[in-house]
Amino acid sequence: MFDFLIVGAGFFGAVFAYEARKALKKVLLIEKRDHIGGNCYSYDDSETNINIHKYGPHIFHTPDKNIWDYINIFADFNKYQHRVLTTADDKIYPLPINLTTINQFYNLNLTPDEAAEFLKSKISAVAKPTNLEEKAISLVGRELYESFIKGYTIKQWGRDPRELPVDVITRLPVRTSNNDIYYDDKYQGMPTGGYTPIFEKLLNGISVELKTDFFDKRDYWKSIAKTIVYTGPIDRYFDYHFGKLSWRSCRFEIERFSLNDYQGISVMNFADQEIPYTRIIEPKHFYPERAPLSRGTIIIREYPYENSDEPYYPVSSKADLKILAKYQKTQKKEKNVVFGGRLAEYKYYDMYQVIAKALQLAGKIAISKHRKGEK
Ligand code: FAD
Ligand code: UDP
Repeated sequence: MFDFLIVGAGFFGAVFAYEARKALKKVLLIEKRDHIGGNCYSYDDSETNINIHKYGPHIFHTPDKNIWDYINIFADFNKYQHRVLTTADDKIYPLPINLTTINQFYNLNLTPDEAAEFLKSKISAVAKPTNLEEKAISLVGRELYESFIKGYTIKQWGRDPRELPVDVITRLPVRTSNNDIYYDDKYQGMPTGGYTPIFEKLLNGISVELKTDFFDKRDYWKSIAKTIVYTGPIDRYFDYHFGKLSWRSCRFEIERFSLNDYQGISVMNFADQEIPYTRIIEPKHFYPERAPLSRGTIIIREYPYENSDEPYYPVSSKADLKILAKYQKTQKKEKNVVFGGRLAEYKYYDMYQVIAKALQLAGKIAISKHRKGEK
C-alpha cells in the first residue's frame, strides 16, 4: 500500500513527492504525458543547444526568499532579468508601461513626477473596478489601455476584457520610472540547465509511471494508496458534473533562422488585435551564457485558443467561478483525496506559488502524519 499516489508530474506533484519521500513515505507518481515537468518541461534543441520550453516560456521569479532558497537546492540560476518589448501600431515600446513608454507614446519628455501627474489626468475615476477593462483604465487611462492592453487581452483570452477578472491585469506593474524589468520580484533567473533537470532531481528515487492516465483505472489507483494527491483539472475529476471550466490554451509555431539574433530580446509582444499571435519568443536570449552549437536562432509564435483539454490559462469568468464553487464544495466531501496546483485549484498561479502551496500541503499531511507514525 502506498501512502501517496500522486497524479501529475508538474511542480505541485513533484515537490509534494519529494517532501513525502523525505518524510519516509511510500510514494507512486503517475503522469499522463510522456515526460515529467508538467507545463514547465524543457529540452535542449540538438542543432543549436537552445533550451526550448515546450509549453511556453517560463521565467522563474519570486518575492519569497524561502522559495528561492528551496528551488536553488535543485538548480543553479543565471542572472537573467526579464524584459519585454511590445509592438503597437508598428512602433516598439518597453513593457510594462513605464516612463519611456509614456513619453514615446505621447511624444513627450516628462520627468517621473510629471509622468505621475500626467497619468492621473488621463485616468477616469472608477470607484470600484469590477472587470479587467475598468481596472486597466483606472491604472493607465483609456488611450494606453486601447493601445497596449485591449487587443492583446482579447487575443489572449478570446473574450471582451469587461468579462475578465480584475486581477489578471494587476499582474503587470505600472511605473513612472525607467525601470523596464518585467517583474518586481527580488529573485529571478533561469535554471541554467532548463527546467527538466529540476524535476529529475525532485523525483530521483521515486517510482514514476509515464503515459498513465488516472482516469483509465481510477478505482485501481484509489485502492493502492491511502491518499491521492490530484493535480489535474478539477472539473475532469468530477466527470464535468457541474459543467466544464473554461481554459485558454496555446498553439506554438516554431521557425528557425540562420541568423544570430532575430529580435534582440527574448519576448516581443504584439498589441494589435489584427496580428493573430500574441508574442514571439526567441529563447536563446534567456541563456546569454550558453555557447551555441551552430549559427542560428529559433523563434516561437504563440497563438492562444480555447481548449479545455490542453489547459494553460484559467479564464475565471463569473460563470466559471460559479461552477468552480460547486466543485470546491463537492471536493470537501471527497475522502482521502487532496487537490492542488494550477489545474486542480483553477488558479492563475506562477511557479513559485505552486511550490509554496505544495510545501504547505506536504508540511500539513506528509510530514505531520510521519511524525505521528514515529511515536
Ligand atoms: P502542471 O504543470 O500543469 O502539471 C500538472 C500535471 O498533471 C501535467 O503534467 C498533466 O499532464 C498531469 N495530469 C493531468 N491530469 C492527469 C491525469 N488524469 N492523469 C495523469 N496525469 C495528469 N509561471 C511562472 O512562474 N513564470 C512564467 O514565466 C510562467 N509562464 C507560463 C507560460 C505559460 C504558457 C503557461 C501555460 C504557464 C506559465 N507559468 C509560469 C505557470 C506555470 O506553468 C504553472 O504555475 C505550473 O506549471 C503549475 O504546476 P502544476 O503542477 O500545478 O501544473
Ligand atoms: N497584457 C496586455 N498586454 C501585454 C501583456 C499583458 O494586455 O502586452 C495583459 C493580458 O491581459 C495578460 C495579462 O496582462 O493576460 C497578464 O500578462 P502576463 O505577462 O502576466 O501573462 P503570462 O505571463 O501569464 O502569459
